[in-house]
Amino acid sequence: MNATTVTTASAALIGTSAWKLTGIRSTSEGQRCDHCPRTLKNLYDLTNTETGQTMTVGRGCCKKVTGWSLTTAEARRLLNHARQQERQARVWAEFTAAHPEIAAAVEADAASWRPAWTGQANLAAHFRWQISRGAISRVGWRDQGARYMSEVRQQQAALAP
Ligand SMILES: [Zn+2]
Repeated sequence: MNATTVTTASAALIGTSAWKLTGIRSTSEGQRCDHCPRTLKNLYDLTNTETGQTMTVGRGCCKKVTGWSLTTAEARRLLNHARQQERQARVWAEFTAAHPEIAAAVEADAASWRPAWTGQANLAAHFRWQISRGAISRVGWRDQGARYMSEVRQQQAALAP
């Protein structure tokens, strides 16, 4: 079977609908659409986030079901973006497990932060982003976390409006 299936568990919501895209199916022999029910070569896996209902539908039926049209390129982008977010959330969760007190401080700082001037960077959010994106690797977590607590945090607090 010549098939490529891309799947992700994260919430790649389609437009403002309750449906999320969980996968893209591409098969040379085609597969039945759960909606029309034609045999199609390219289909989307959908899950309704409110009811839990799952469907595998073609592009045309995706619009009928969700109310939103989704090109294959858009679908790929949506999935890639969702996968990236999922990966980043997983890394941050790992950091949180390893350094709970630092992670809690960063979360609180990022949430309560107000710019002292237009364009001032939210250093807590930036730190979280660096960890999540892997810009600070695991071997640097302890040192950079300690630096955040002893320097960055004080620096940000001193500038607070
Ligand atoms: Zn269909």
